[in-house]
Amino acid sequence: MNTDIDCIVVGAGVVGLAIARQLSLSGREVMVVEAMEGIGTGTSARNSEVIHAGIYYPAGSLKAKLCVQGRHMLYDYCAARGVAHKRIGKLIVATTEQESVHLEGIREKARINGVDDLEVLTAAQAKSLEPALSCTSALLSPSTGIIDSHGLMLAYQGDAENAGAQCVFHTPLLSGTVRTHGGFDLTFGGADAMQLSCNVLINASGLHAPTLARRIAGIPSQAIPNEYLCKGSYFTLQGRAPFTRLIYPIPQHAGLGVHLTLDLGGQAKFGPDTEWIDHVDYDIDPSRCEGFYEAVRTYWPGMRDGTLSPGYTGIRPKISGPHEPAADFMISGPAHHGVPGLVNLFGIESPGLTSSLAIAQETLLRLQQD
Ligand SMILES: Cc1cc2nc3c(=O)[nH]c(=O)nc-3n(C[C@H](O)[C@H](O)[C@H](O)COP(=O)(O)OP(=O)(O)OC[C@H]3O[C@@H](n4cnc5c(N)ncnc54)[C@H](O)[C@@H]3O)c2cc1C
Repeated sequence: MNTDIDCIVVGAGVVGLAIARQLSLSGREVMVVEAMEGIGTGTSARNSEVIHAGIYYPAGSLKAKLCVQGRHMLYDYCAARGVAHKRIGKLIVATTEQESVHLEGIREKARINGVDDLEVLTAAQAKSLEPALSCTSALLSPSTGIIDSHGLMLAYQGDAENAGAQCVFHTPLLSGTVRTHGGFDLTFGGADAMQLSCNVLINASGLHAPTLARRIAGIPSQAIPNEYLCKGSYFTLQGRAPFTRLIYPIPQHAGLGVHLTLDLGGQAKFGPDTEWIDHVDYDIDPSRCEGFYEAVRTYWPGMRDGTLSPGYTGIRPKISGPHEPAADFMISGPAHHGVPGLVNLFGIESPGLTSSLAIAQETLLRLQQD
């Protein structure tokens, strides 16, 4: 059956753009449709901009596999395309003897995931690297880095467009239908509301990807997970950064704890914390930083009162709730839901930025498996 366009990618975040790039480089006709006015206005613009090593994720999970693969691909890509980044390293710090016991376990988990460059440091060794730090021991991850996420998305968009893809903005996908003999009929809103058909549909719409999948008649509902939102708030530090590496406490259930990250300009920020919410709201509650002082002083006792200012927030697109174990990335292709030509990307929280090139590769693989 004829369609208007071969492949439609919904969402111009880092994941949608990476997939559009990969599809168009493989010779396919691609249109990226984005509800907002430009690329990267969602979660891709509201994160820590850290290139994760791939340390914490459960062995055998997609997060573990795609983070390690994606990190190698990303460093090579950034070097080749001139995307600003720095491999500055990170310290995971234990601040009690009880926490120190966990560091070996974290190192072992990382080794199983293919991250074999972690080094256990004594308190004195850690302090010689970062004099402002207080800890009982630490793990050094030399392959962790930071990246200009917008620069990365511009590079993906450029590659995709050079290979013939087009990006259209102010065009939300509202609903659709799976055609009986293959392909999709889709209805878009916005100023130029339109109907389009395609052979391949990639749902990379981020926070509400499960809701959008439910609006496409013909996708089995049991193949669509529940959707949860977990907000993280960041506070920026006034004055000079006390550290030259990223500093992370031992991870907590829904996130990685109140960690210190640096941007490429050397500005330090703390966060994100975790707050389960029921609708998208990026406002920051200035009072949340009260909890930050206490958490940060466990590893940086020199932190002075009143030095944090509200920064920004991001929202994790969760597919597991507050009292459930953290879910893996869900890249749901025809072998899972039975609809040829469709891939839904659900729960692409951290490390989605690091993994973006590997997620794109995996998405193309899943398209071919039925
Ligand atoms: C607090 C926080 C910190 C993080 N830190 C890191 C980190 O340091 N390192 C790391 O690797 N990862 C990190 N991540 C994860 C990373 O940011 C995400 O995995 C990644 O940005 C997800 O990209 P995406 O393209 O899937 O989603 P998004 O960036 O949200 O893009 C989805 C796009 O789809 C569009 N859209 C939605 N619905 C429609 C529709 N119906 N029609 C058309 N368009 C639509 C949206 O407008 C949006 O532009 C973090 C995430 C959070 C929340």
